[in-house]
Amino acid sequence: MVEELEDTYKKLSKQHNEELIRLCAKYFIKMEHYELANEAYLRLSDMKGIIEIKVALQNWKEGMLLAKLNPHMQSVFYKPYADYLMEQGEFEKAQEAYKRAGRKDLTLEILHSLAESATIEKRFKDAGYYYWKEALELLGEIDNKEDYEGINKYKNARRLSYIYCAYDVIDNYLLGRTTFKSTSYVFNAACYLINILGTLKPLNISLVSIYYAIGILGAEQGAYSTALKALETLRTMKIPSKWQNIVNIQSIKLQAGPFIDQEKINPICSCCMNANPLLHYNDDRCLICNHPFIRSFISFSTISLVEFKLVSKISHEEAMDLIKTKHPSKHKRFVSLYLYVGVMIIGRMVNKKK
Ligand SMILES: [Zn+2]
Repeated sequence: MVEELEDTYKKLSKQHNEELIRLCAKYFIKMEHYELANEAYLRLSDMKGIIEIKVALQNWKEGMLLAKLNPHMQSVFYKPYADYLMEQGEFEKAQEAYKRAGRKDLTLEILHSLAESATIEKRFKDAGYYYWKEALELLGEIDNKEDYEGINKYKNARRLSYIYCAYDVIDNYLLGRTTFKSTSYVFNAACYLINILGTLKPLNISLVSIYYAIGILGAEQGAYSTALKALETLRTMKIPSKWQNIVNIQSIKLQAGPFIDQEKINPICSCCMNANPLLHYNDDRCLICNHPFIRSFISFSTISLVEFKLVSKISHEEAMDLIKTKHPSKHKRFVSLYLYVGVMIIGRMVNKKK
């Protein structure tokens, strides 16, 4: 049967029998005679068919090379390649392949599954990473500022990413995996978590652990009052018996005073310059002007950044000139600082959009 078809195929001319050659190629594939099928597609210069044969043979290396050389054929190669990676359990590579195949829906599905699995298995750093990647994908999907559903989805994924990144610090501290000498970043991460969690109860995030970190580490940072409040809150919760004594001793120490936090540790809002208490709950926003505190994700301390839009009278070029002002007056220096940080934020947003 194949021999007869091969004889007929060889008599066909490309000029007059293009469709018949294509039909032969399909039969060759059906009968797993890939060399003949490949030859037929080469005669037709049919790149789609050639890539499909590479896929059928699971010759991923050559298929990928052809897909790179023929960008309009990416989906022909990357969709089945991603399916294959999924079967092999290579989920992260699979989501990248689905992305290249133009299947953002499947990319998002995998990223969400990866994030959820990491959360269930208490791999908090991985959970933060996958939620962040999901957030970036969702950000790319937003077409306009009226796309409220898309914006909410993006913000939710971003928030979960922040939460799990910060909680990873607490988890490592409690498991004795902290390598830094200073524990201020653990304390800062714990305060940050209390401020952004609100009524949220993400899976495997333990409020007991967070309040415990604040209560135990607060005094070292000069946050006596905050630590005492955290320990009082802990008393209303069910805490592990191994912590009970530590909590009791720490409470006694703190009750010896002083009963207020050192002034220098209260975060200053970069927008209205007012000091806020360490635990301000308000979605980590300033209690006076509602501007969000921007955190470093290395130290979890607040950074002097404010977000603003230029008034229509000031052009981008004028703003840049103001930033470069060498000997500004006190007022101008203030403006320059704000412009500088504003441009930084806008720059980050633009880069993120890219
Ligand atoms: Zn403020």
